[in-house]
Amino acid sequence: MKTLKVSIVTPDGPVHESDVDMVSAKAQSGELGILPGHIPMVAPLNIGAIRLKSGNDTKLVAVSGGFLEVRPEQVTILAQSAENAEDIDIQRAKAAKERAERRLQEQKDNIDFTRAELALKRAINRINVHENRF
Ligand code: ATP
Repeated sequence: MKTLKVSIVTPDGPVHESDVDMVSAKAQSGELGILPGHIPMVAPLNIGAIRLKSGNDTKLVAVSGGFLEVRPEQVTILAQSAENAEDIDIQRAKAAKERAERRLQEQKDNIDFTRAELALKRAINRINVHENRF
């Protein structure tokens, strides 16, 4: 069976490389499911999980936005940050979630509100990916 080569890259370097049957990602336009042979395209990503399916196994990678580029045999994800599920520091993510929630309660009509909302989304995404909740 044909497979897709997946590379997930951040400004700090490569985070993940594997061959998989299917890639699912949360694009800004909605959930995308990419199979081998997909037409070339580029899509902006939301904060979310990349799901990498191989046989009965599904691996999760948390990404904090970026772009997904599809070629028929290759998917490249350029992300602002990305972590494999097993590399996520759960205590750090929980602390970031609490910090963001506190800031959201303190700040109402401020530009920091958007920053705190994004920080909260990143933290919740990392917690969900760590706990395999997708
Ligand atoms: P924090 O407030 O904990 O730094 P953040 O959402 O502001 O969280 P980012 O700016 O998205 O962090 O990421 C900075 C770097 O730290 C990236 O390399 C990212 O992969 C890594 N990182 C952030 N949170 C975690 C985590 N919980 N576990 C592992 N790596 C993390």
